[in-house]
Amino acid sequence: MARIVMKFGGTSVADIARIRNVARHVKREVDAGHEVAVVVSAMAGKTNELVQWTREASPMHDAREYDAVVASGEQVTAGLLAITLQNMGVHARSWQGWQIPIKTDNAHGAARILDIDGAFLIKRFGEGQVAVVAGFQGIGPDNRIATLGRGGSDTSAVAIAAAVKADRCDIYTDVDGVYTTDPRIEPKARRLAKISFEEMLEMASLGAKVLQVRSVELAMVHRVRTFVRSSFDDPDAPGMGDLLNPPGTLICDEEEIVEQQVVTGIAYAKDEAQISLRRVGDRPGVAAGIFGPLAEANINVDMIVQNISEDGKFTDMTFTVPSGDVDKALAVLERLKTTIGYDVVQSEAGMSKVSVIGIGMRSHAGVAATAFKALADKSINIRAITTSEIKISILIDGPYTELAVRTLHSIYGLDKQ
Ligand code: ADP
Ligand code: ASP
Ligand code: MG
Repeated sequence: MARIVMKFGGTSVADIARIRNVARHVKREVDAGHEVAVVVSAMAGKTNELVQWTREASPMHDAREYDAVVASGEQVTAGLLAITLQNMGVHARSWQGWQIPIKTDNAHGAARILDIDGAFLIKRFGEGQVAVVAGFQGIGPDNRIATLGRGGSDTSAVAIAAAVKADRCDIYTDVDGVYTTDPRIEPKARRLAKISFEEMLEMASLGAKVLQVRSVELAMVHRVRTFVRSSFDDPDAPGMGDLLNPPGTLICDEEEIVEQQVVTGIAYAKDEAQISLRRVGDRPGVAAGIFGPLAEANINVDMIVQNISEDGKFTDMTFTVPSGDVDKALAVLERLKTTIGYDVVQSEAGMSKVSVIGIGMRSHAGVAATAFKALADKSINIRAITTSEIKISILIDGPYTELAVRTLHSIYGLDKQ
């Protein structure tokens, strides 16, 4: 007997027929004698609709009320799955974040889980009950519902798996694993049997939305054995119930991966904007003077490029922010114009960031040069570059995103191995 947490994403619970299919996956594990807790997302598109309603009600709204609205999608699917399971003869009950409770901090709209009472769910296991937990939500110190940021049901699932010391956390989605790049963009992408926590963390934070970044962090810290697998597979096909090696991608320690490639995957993030401050006074403290206030305004600054000053007096400072934050960033910079001291501020939206990720880069030279040459051969202009030990990120014009992803994917042979 094992203890398994199963999470089903939006497309997997998009309608009643799919919820029925999900219930069959759950029943398979229950029938095999395992202790099972389930986490569900809202039906596909539901959260977008709810978010849009809050914006229509008022563009600048109270984040606590945003949470009250957008958390409702998961309440519906948790109830529907419990009903479906009961109808199949499985002892099931739905639970919301506050009932368990899943305690979060106060950052409404992007809350972090602080603590989960594992005893509550362990008691349910003891009663032979399948707890169907509404993902994406918890309860804050203000005693109000708090949501975990988009894609947050992944994090609910991994956090619950850690709290109940589950043997496995299965993230069921609309693809059958983690691929070398987004299979929607590159049909030649290949499924990875395993990917290291570190690489998955980079992939997720650089745009691969198959897992929320925080869920990977939690899986890494708490050593949760996490699989990404498809809910569309026939629940009763051979091997589906395999305890140690279910179909899908295992997120695991680097040491568990025998055949390590130099490059593991390509990720991309659209809707980036570039902001440049021209002729900024080149003196100590100027970067702090610019990026401190932007951080205080909760603006997520990403790539930063500062030119070497030609005359020792003035320099240019260029950085990227999500497109949605441009107006807010420009307002902050305008307000600080005399304090910072710059000539003009220029901004351009519609950029994309493509990233090459691989642990093998630590010990291989020339990976970056290969990317630059491949992009140049396709006449794709590079606007900014950042690197770390295991990744290279390149800022390009948005319309070239797909071409850049496919080019990089093929230049490192990811479509062939
Ligand atoms: P869910 O609703 O199940 O949480 P998401 O839409 O959040 O599903 O995530 C799954 C999607 O992530 C896939 O449909 C795929 O298009 C996208 N994706 C992006 N990068 C990758 C990748 N490297 N491997 C697999 N899927 C990826
Ligand atoms: N329903 C939420 C979202 O769309 C959470 C999730 O699906 O993980 O972001
Ligand atoms: Mg998701």
